[in-house]
Amino acid sequence: MPEAMVASSASEATRGAATQQVDVAVVGAGFAGLYLLHRLRKAGFTSVVLEEAADVGGTWYWNRYPGARCDIQTIDYAYTFDPELERAWQWSEKYATQPEILRYLGFVADRYDLRRDIRFRTRITAATWDQTAERWLLATNSGATVSCRYYIMATGCLSSPKPPEIDGVSDFKGEVYFTGRWPHEEVKLAGKRVAVIGTGSSGIQSIPLIAEQAAHLTVFQRTPNFALPAHNGPAPADRVALLESDRASYREQARWSLAGVPWPQQTAVSWQLSDAERRQRLDEAWAKGDLVYILTQLWADQAVDVDGNALLADLIREKIRETVKDPETAAALSPHDHPFGAKRPCLDTSYYATYNRPDVTLVNLRQEPIRSITASGIKTDKRTLDVDVIVFATGFDAMTGAIMAVHPITGRGGKSLSDVWANGPQTYLGLTVAGFPNLFMITGPGSPSVLSNMAVSIEQHVDWVVDRLIAMREAGFTAIEATETAQAGWAQHMADCATLTLHRLANTWYTGANVPGKAQGVMPYTGGVGPYRSICNEVVSHDMLGFKLTGPNVAEQCNDGEIVRLQPDVRLVLNMLADMKLPPIESLGAQGTRDFVAEFNASRPAGRPVGEVVDGTLPGSDGPLPYRLYRPATPGPHPIVVYFHGGGWVFGDQQTDDPFCRDMCRRTGMIFVSVGYRHAPEHRFPTAAEDGYAATRWIAEHAADLGGKLGPVMVAGWSAGGNIAAVTCQLARDRGGPQISGQLLVCPVTDCTFDRTSYNDNATGYFLTRSLMYWFWDLYCSPADRTDPRVSPLRGKLEGLPQAFVVTCEFDPLRDEGVAYAEALAAAGVPVEQLNARGHFHSSFTMVDVVITGVSGRVQMADALRRFAGLPPERKEGDEGVRPRSVRLAA
Ligand SMILES: Cc1cc2nc3c(=O)[nH]c(=O)nc-3n(C[C@H](O)[C@H](O)[C@H](O)COP(=O)(O)OP(=O)(O)OC[C@H]3O[C@@H](n4cnc5c(N)ncnc54)[C@H](O)[C@@H]3O)c2cc1C
Repeated sequence: MPEAMVASSASEATRGAATQQVDVAVVGAGFAGLYLLHRLRKAGFTSVVLEEAADVGGTWYWNRYPGARCDIQTIDYAYTFDPELERAWQWSEKYATQPEILRYLGFVADRYDLRRDIRFRTRITAATWDQTAERWLLATNSGATVSCRYYIMATGCLSSPKPPEIDGVSDFKGEVYFTGRWPHEEVKLAGKRVAVIGTGSSGIQSIPLIAEQAAHLTVFQRTPNFALPAHNGPAPADRVALLESDRASYREQARWSLAGVPWPQQTAVSWQLSDAERRQRLDEAWAKGDLVYILTQLWADQAVDVDGNALLADLIREKIRETVKDPETAAALSPHDHPFGAKRPCLDTSYYATYNRPDVTLVNLRQEPIRSITASGIKTDKRTLDVDVIVFATGFDAMTGAIMAVHPITGRGGKSLSDVWANGPQTYLGLTVAGFPNLFMITGPGSPSVLSNMAVSIEQHVDWVVDRLIAMREAGFTAIEATETAQAGWAQHMADCATLTLHRLANTWYTGANVPGKAQGVMPYTGGVGPYRSICNEVVSHDMLGFKLTGPNVAEQCNDGEIVRLQPDVRLVLNMLADMKLPPIESLGAQGTRDFVAEFNASRPAGRPVGEVVDGTLPGSDGPLPYRLYRPATPGPHPIVVYFHGGGWVFGDQQTDDPFCRDMCRRTGMIFVSVGYRHAPEHRFPTAAEDGYAATRWIAEHAADLGGKLGPVMVAGWSAGGNIAAVTCQLARDRGGPQISGQLLVCPVTDCTFDRTSYNDNATGYFLTRSLMYWFWDLYCSPADRTDPRVSPLRGKLEGLPQAFVVTCEFDPLRDEGVAYAEALAAAGVPVEQLNARGHFHSSFTMVDVVITGVSGRVQMADALRRFAGLPPERKEGDEGVRPRSVRLAA
């Protein structure tokens, strides 16, 4: 039975002469609303689209200012759902103008006969959920109402222009225009004195064209933006050829890419490239004129590392200085307050060169803020500038503005969305909100939206939503609602993703900073289009995880939980490993495992440079052992950390944990000596422990020769190396030295018991498996020896040991024995701090270049080592992201 018929017997609240009854009401007739209507119709839902504008187009209906264009290449920024449509439309330019995109959307509306179900000039003013009828009642500016089972807000991320924050606008006697609401009739600027306020995308696109017409143009800039030349013209032949060679595969790659445009993942990191190579890469990107390319393809760390980003930002500032002749103007136009890419960079056509014109003036509002707008012009702290026209290019109340403008949106139990979002938007997947059944948002806050090619994101959202509605109809469900658990989990995942990128270091419209009083936080999903798509698919394959589904004749379904509990980069690593379908490591045998690890290490990027790396040998417990020493670039002597690599006592060498040692050497300013202890099965228990102890003793005795500080050393190790470090501390205490001032134990093996919860919960799926641990133990240690404290330090005497920092990871079989060791140390009176890293797995902290979210943990480890050495913590910009908290355990 069609939903519309069900609705006619619905509760009184949803009835009325002027109330249109539909299955689905969509608000907005832009890219999203048009595709929604097409899909809903095909799926047999009665639907209506309500649109404030007089025609279709959304963004492209309203933004008619001079120079308005897309900044994602048009071959990518278009619908892909119908190959026939793709064949039927030819774009004329690399970046189409607003009129062409508007014509395209009109063409789409005609082709699928969409206008007959769109009510134009109709603004939705309020929406109320009727729990009894399980329907939404929408109020409009015309007084007519719409009753619908499902309410889909396709209201746009950039459709609510931000009102000017300046006094006196109404006093101005000249003409006033807003880029986001530009008139349909021609605006004549020739011979006029024009002011443009704002230098975001709209300002940067329009300023060169306005300058060409105006008698004089004054640009008022508060925050400079990075702008890159668009080099508009025909679509680049190489991209067109790539698309034409296999259109379906090109589109599919876009869907699974990070930004919605098929570019590969960049692998070279900034510090591996010479200055000349980096400059050459930028010059190539500059010549290409491609926003996604320059945002993703220069070097792998450009968007995630402060230093890697600064190298790029410096080169772009150089370009600005090369173009703008007046040094003061060039300096004012050069952004220094945000990392490149953390605020949307703009594509321009002659933007910077426009400031070389004698009839263009830049007013730097950081130096002379606007005080008011007067009848004749604009008054700053320093002067009054008379103008005939003011153009406000002041941007949008992005992502939430259009949603919140429908007020109130009243959900279950009378909850108002504005109350629920008072401290910032809360959503599940950016699509739904707990407490607001049957309400969907397309590209809502919490989805990749403005950080992506939105054509791709919109199609994914629309498909996901309509597919869910079809599935619900088939199963007899009539209401769907996100759970609070799922929503809170998504907020956590959003925050985890945000720590990965540099968006958190900028105040932008992505974070709500451009609107006074708006709650602050990174609103778009920063984890990427492809990962987001796979998460949405996983929600479905896990029985609609995080949603409650109800219907009159079916049992309630609610598979509650959080869809992503891993850190986002850990998830990517584990997915990648799963895709490789590797055999179990233990099936390779000891030598096979060593060969595999050596091959893996060879393909891995080199770690970051340190002052010096020296290979040497030292006397072990029974013959020479290799070591590698990492010396900081700072003047010595430095404190020394003796380090033991991981590898289950079976494999690994100084190369295995090389990036980790380099990273820790740089962060701590200490010498790291990574010891090549001997391995099982050739050298079984207690060889590794005895080698570790002997090496520590020798290093302590030769500290001065190694360039280290005299006095106690520190020990550190990961996994089996953590075991050796812990055992070394016990041996040093019992054998009269050397003196050890602290132990850093990262995911250490501490005990021979395999029945702790973490062994069961994380037995498979997190790379270090339970069966791999069994194999390690079997190769290293006979059952009779396993309770010996030299391999199970948890069973040893713990009093009098050096202070400790113990790191455990949530998804690690070894987690609970690490926690147990920290607790036992504390109980024995040893000062100990424990960091339980949420969402991490056994290898998170040593995969330095891959698991970026491990940075915060490594910062804390470095702090701990510096504390052990009596030094204050060291901080660098970017370290202050959301940090897991270590806990000081009381005895
Ligand atoms: C100048 C400019 C250039 C851009 N270039 C690109 C680009 O190159 N690539 C890219 O990916 N993205 C770009 N964007 C982002 C752009 O917003 C999206 O790509 C896309 O057009 C959004 O489509 P939409 O249907 O989601 O929303 P919109 O196109 O914004 O449409 C939303 C519609 O909802 C209507 N509406 C809102 N509230 C109500 C209400 N209460 N009642 C009735 N109607 C309502 C609005 O009138 C509007 O027509 C650009 C944006 C701008 C402003």
